[in-house]
Amino acid sequence: MPSHLYQQLVDCFPDRARPAFITESGARISYGDVEAASARMAQALVTLGVKPGDRVAMQVEKSIDAVMLYLGVIRAGALLLPLNTAYTPAEVEYFLTDAAPTVFVCDPGKRDGLAGAAAAAGIAHVETMASDGSGSLKFRATQMPASFADVERGPDDLAGILYTSGTTGRSKGAMISHENLASNARTLKEIWRFTDEDTLIHALPIYHTHGLFVAVNVLLMAGGATIFLPKFDADQVMSVMPQATSMMGVPTFYTRLLQHPALDRAATANMRLFISGSAPLLAETHREWREKTGHAILERYGMTETNMITSNPYDGERVAGTVGFPLPGVEVRIADPETGRVLPQGEIGVIELKGPNVFKGYWNMPEKTAAEFRPDGFFITGDLGRVDERGYYHIVGRGKDLVITGGFNVYPKEIETEIDGMPGVVESAVIGVAHPDFGEGVTAVVVRANGATIDERQIAAALEGRLAKFKQPKKIVFLDDLPRNAMGKVQKNVLRERFKSLYGA
Ligand code: AMP
Repeated sequence: MPSHLYQQLVDCFPDRARPAFITESGARISYGDVEAASARMAQALVTLGVKPGDRVAMQVEKSIDAVMLYLGVIRAGALLLPLNTAYTPAEVEYFLTDAAPTVFVCDPGKRDGLAGAAAAAGIAHVETMASDGSGSLKFRATQMPASFADVERGPDDLAGILYTSGTTGRSKGAMISHENLASNARTLKEIWRFTDEDTLIHALPIYHTHGLFVAVNVLLMAGGATIFLPKFDADQVMSVMPQATSMMGVPTFYTRLLQHPALDRAATANMRLFISGSAPLLAETHREWREKTGHAILERYGMTETNMITSNPYDGERVAGTVGFPLPGVEVRIADPETGRVLPQGEIGVIELKGPNVFKGYWNMPEKTAAEFRPDGFFITGDLGRVDERGYYHIVGRGKDLVITGGFNVYPKEIETEIDGMPGVVESAVIGVAHPDFGEGVTAVVVRANGATIDERQIAAALEGRLAKFKQPKKIVFLDDLPRNAMGKVQKNVLRERFKSLYGA
């Protein structure tokens, strides 16, 4: 078996005339088209001076061309650095400076706004790509030959850097190798039974591991077709469902679809599998979905650094409120967060794992990397969990106080730092509060200085343009003091309890 991710994918491609992607307008992109378009992208990058090991950053709207760019980067032996489209120029500047990519690809409409960030980071080539097929990179690619000799890569060579939010406000770049991605795709294809008979509904963003690596790699490796939707829209998902067999989604997809009047057994009759992950799926949602459609959602658990870790079974019972069993070939354990001692079954501790799916460390952060691995090589996820008597993993909380809103991770510290810096503010605490639509709503609890009059509207206005939309608090509330424990730590659990009904969830 080749160690190169793309070569492993291409070895599984079916008859080249079969569709790999179907767009919202019904256009079909065949497997032959994927080979040709990714070759053109790879060659275009090479002509821009991209060498093996170089980084290529992209902050673009979701499109098939963006997927071809991903594959082209891999074929050229370079590393893809996908960036959330919601990131502001100031945020983009940090990533570009940290990862020093050779090429930065952005939306043509945002080029001027990002020029300063690219210049500050010393980027040699800024190229553009729009979802309508226009842009300088696509134009360059169309001039290139339709075949490309893939640059050889070993299993531990890197294929991408995915930035996760950092608790100290600095994002960390998770270095993901060819084997990390290929091993996970092989396993998931197998355990979720994906074949060339499958058609997947793809409504996830492609700057995150879920939509980019899990969905795209698994379907290409299975030789199936992917209905590639620009974003999640309940009406659109319902309208393509009769042509599809499967969907990978975040819990928000399922809560929104449950409110759709057309959702019933007949509407989902052609579907064989609904998968959920990236955030906790409420047991209630699982039950309601089963009642309405007859399908048990298959919940799985993973993170950027590790790809997928556990999954509920395809054949056995899919237990609501659990994330199932460790994937084949992945060792998972529950340990004491402080000492690392492995805990007996049933006890709550931090989830740790070891396997071919676990990343190679954080870019430019050797100390941070060392701190997150045990001496025996297990990665410390920071998620707290337990294993029940049947071996199912349960996630009980997040050690890191991460807020997950609509499937996106928000680290409170980053928002608190912004708010604390505002005149009239003493301090703030950002928490996640149950939200019927987003799973959790980012909520800021603010303490004002004596006599200060700064209000919700003023704080919200000051955060706009400073933080990506998904990080901006859905509500800002005021208290005279923050509750603290004897060690002086803010008791966020007390705040969560106090404001738990803020959104009526
Ligand atoms: P990300 O790196 O953005 O994929 O986020 C990873 C984090 O999402 C994990 O560390 C978990 O805290 C959370 N997560 C992912 N899947 C699940 C799940 N099925 N249930 C609960 N939390 C999850």
